[in-house]
Amino acid sequence: MPTFLFDKIIFGPVKSRRLGVSLGINLLPTNIKVCSFDCIYCECGRNPKKYEEKAVLPSRAEVQQKLREKLEEMKADNLLPDVITFAGNGEPTLHSEFAGIIDDTIELRDLLSPKARIAVLSNATMIHKKEVFRALLKIEDNIQKLDSAFEETIKLLDCPNKNFSLQKTVEQLTLFQGKVIIQTLFVKGSYKGETVDNTTDKEISTWIELLKKIKPSQVMIYTIARDTPIDTLEKVTIDELNAIAKRLEDAGFRVQVSG
Ligand code: SF4
Repeated sequence: MPTFLFDKIIFGPVKSRRLGVSLGINLLPTNIKVCSFDCIYCECGRNPKKYEEKAVLPSRAEVQQKLREKLEEMKADNLLPDVITFAGNGEPTLHSEFAGIIDDTIELRDLLSPKARIAVLSNATMIHKKEVFRALLKIEDNIQKLDSAFEETIKLLDCPNKNFSLQKTVEQLTLFQGKVIIQTLFVKGSYKGETVDNTTDKEISTWIELLKKIKPSQVMIYTIARDTPIDTLEKVTIDELNAIAKRLEDAGFRVQVSG
């Protein structure tokens, strides 16, 4: 049940299950979560019902300065990260200066930590914006969420804002022409009296068909690892994840499994 928020703009480095030694960048406020989804499994908790205080996002200049300082420190200690990851307290692409921040990050990475990849963990709700789409094409790991091929499942699991359309999201994802990694979290349980399970045969077969349209360079599958705001959710076992991975591999996808 307890969840947490990142209290800094730059956090870590942490050993990420999926990415290696990761230096995190949080473009959202440090005191509240801001997201266009409200996933029932989100480690940052549910979205506030009402924002008591104004959500203050860090400026582009502030992010650049903090990242420079941290990379200089890590370089001096000879402990540079494998990856610089945009994640944090919500959806990073909601930041109005996202594209410029990506340009600054590429410049600092090239200067101070040239071997590090740049990753963005996103829910794909802003990829219709040209500047966001173009920025995501400049980085190495453009990781976009697709938890199901059924809109009703996404509505139950991810609680997207009212503008969400699965069909439009998939159309946008195909425009990356393969320069995208799809991330899918598998979970079981119940929520508000409804069964939650995106691992059924029907879910997996239909999701694989959608992935064939999107043609991602990789598919990352995982399950909950820490506390979730809803306590009626269960982890999916590593055997179940491996069985899903096998189906993906048989369909020709490169897969990463994190149990
Ligand atoms: S998209 Fe990510 S940050 Fe947003 S609610 Fe879902 S898990 Fe949390």
